Amino acid sequence: MNNEIENKESTTKFSLIKNIIWIIKLIWKIRKSYILIELTISLINAILPVTLAWCSALFIKKITAGEYHSVFDQELLLIFLAYISLPFIIGSLKVIYAYVLNQFSVFFEQYIELSLIDKKGEIDIQTHESQEFHNLLLKANENIGRLMHFSDFVSYITGKVIQISIAVFIMLSYKWWVTIMLFLAMLPHLLIEIRFGQLKWSIWDCKAETKRKFSEIKRHFSILGSLTEIKVGNLKTYFTKSTDELLTEFNEEIRSNEKKRFWLKLSAACTEHAAEAFLVFYLMSDVIDKNIEINIFIFLISRIVSFRIDLNEFFRSLSNLNTDSLFISDIRKLISTPKVIRNGSRKLKPHTPTIEFRNASFSYPGTETSVLKDFNFEIEAGEKVAVVGINGAGKTTLIKALMRFYDCKSGEILIDGIPIKELDLATFYSQVAYLAQEFPRFRLPVKQAIALGRGDEPIDEARVVDCAKRAGIHETILGWKSGYDSYLGKEFNGVEPSVGQWQKLALARALYRNAKVLILDEPTSSIDAVAEMAIFEELNKLPNDVTVIMISHRFNTVKDCDTIIVIENNQIKEMGSHGELMGIESGTYQNLFNTQKDSYETQTTGE
Ligand code: ADP
Repeated sequence: MNNEIENKESTTKFSLIKNIIWIIKLIWKIRKSYILIELTISLINAILPVTLAWCSALFIKKITAGEYHSVFDQELLLIFLAYISLPFIIGSLKVIYAYVLNQFSVFFEQYIELSLIDKKGEIDIQTHESQEFHNLLLKANENIGRLMHFSDFVSYITGKVIQISIAVFIMLSYKWWVTIMLFLAMLPHLLIEIRFGQLKWSIWDCKAETKRKFSEIKRHFSILGSLTEIKVGNLKTYFTKSTDELLTEFNEEIRSNEKKRFWLKLSAACTEHAAEAFLVFYLMSDVIDKNIEINIFIFLISRIVSFRIDLNEFFRSLSNLNTDSLFISDIRKLISTPKVIRNGSRKLKPHTPTIEFRNASFSYPGTETSVLKDFNFEIEAGEKVAVVGINGAGKTTLIKALMRFYDCKSGEILIDGIPIKELDLATFYSQVAYLAQEFPRFRLPVKQAIALGRGDEPIDEARVVDCAKRAGIHETILGWKSGYDSYLGKEFNGVEPSVGQWQKLALARALYRNAKVLILDEPTSSIDAVAEMAIFEELNKLPNDVTVIMISHRFNTVKDCDTIIVIENNQIKEMGSHGELMGIESGTYQNLFNTQKDSYETQTTGE
């Protein structure tokens, strides 16, 4: 574990500067005026405290020197006015600064959230399915707040740099070694902060998977389906124990680091105070020896104290900046995740395309096993095709390759005769409706959830109703209190459809898309047998120019397809119409079909 942490640290040494530049560019892009206002306020804020300290020292000297006989002396009144108005101006500037910062934060957060959603929507499915990306996503999601901190720190540090520079100039003009001494006394503090900040991030980085497992458990407790099983199966204790183990594993390292940091910081604080005490003592001797006047003494003491506090805050902010920077690198990495799938430029004509797999073989990235071995087949425009095979045969993978979520290892896929790698995917996707096995449950008003099939067009209510009827969900929707305006999802005080009803809504959405190629991955897996038959009758009524590719385990629903592709051991074992495949003696399809038929007959006859 420690070696792992060391390695992580060495790869991130220069990320701070890159991140600072990145954030400044980002702020500049979002609100140029913010940087200008912020810089002006920081500059004024840095100069005013020094002026105030000088005025205070002068005020005390003038009053105690007995130079004035009346409090209404013009010069005295002027110093008094400066003395009382400066704190007010400093205070007001702080309020203005906080206001500007708050205003900016709103824009900034909105911009970042939008950029992240935009990016996540753009990232390849292939990248999404990788474990590394999931770890990155978790780290980025959980640390998004740090981005705002980071931008705050960048502006805060700008102000501190100006303040410290002025203090250094003052001390250098008194005695050069004072600055060096104070700086050296405070250096351990900076080093400790930076070192432990890095360690904190490294623990996060190395333990991202532990955190992901923890998030997964938390998710089970907020999903109704999992929660019911947890309750009925009395799994609460099991998951509480696992959570405890995961969190202990994660937190133990953090706690032990914090302990070390505490002792080191205490020693560093002692060194700083000893240096300051020595300097005050030295200044006292200078006053007694009449080398400096009382106002200079007061002014210098106030500057030394303020220099120490400012430098301390600067170091702390720098260390926080460094720690945040390490986390922010993950967000930057997420935003700059490259696309693996390079989109082609050849546009597909707006008609039903032919689809061809030519010697196509596929294995998932990072694995050797071929999930699709030498696939060869052609689907004519308007053909109705079913893909069958046991679990894990490679049916969904075939669809993923066809949709170019992944690239094939060898061979090629041709859409309308165009190699898929040369195809402009947007023109292909605009012709496709895809209902995945894990269909989304959009929490929206019903008609919107269906019309999302053509989300870029205004809602066509008649078409919404027609598609709902074909998907067998129309009557159910009419039974809901607000019909097609009912909101989906109990969380939003709406209706809660059953799993099968959600699937019917997803199917209605796919139909609403009115696509030339309809791809359905087990579209009726959660739907009852009667409704399923009705849906397949509707699918059979689809126009002749609509290609349907459907994965199904229900053989009574696939037998009417023009072609059935049977996958076994990652190869196309058989291909043909129901009649042709049933004609293959002891063929895979025949066996699977008969097994299912027998099981139905056994159930209905009660044998
Ligand atoms: P089917 O749809 O026929 O049930 P899949 O196409 O989903 O099967 O899976 C085929 C094989 O590919 C399985 O062995 C599965 O474990 C593997 N597989 C699926 N998805 C991935 C993935 N993202 N990474 C690695 N292997 C995968």
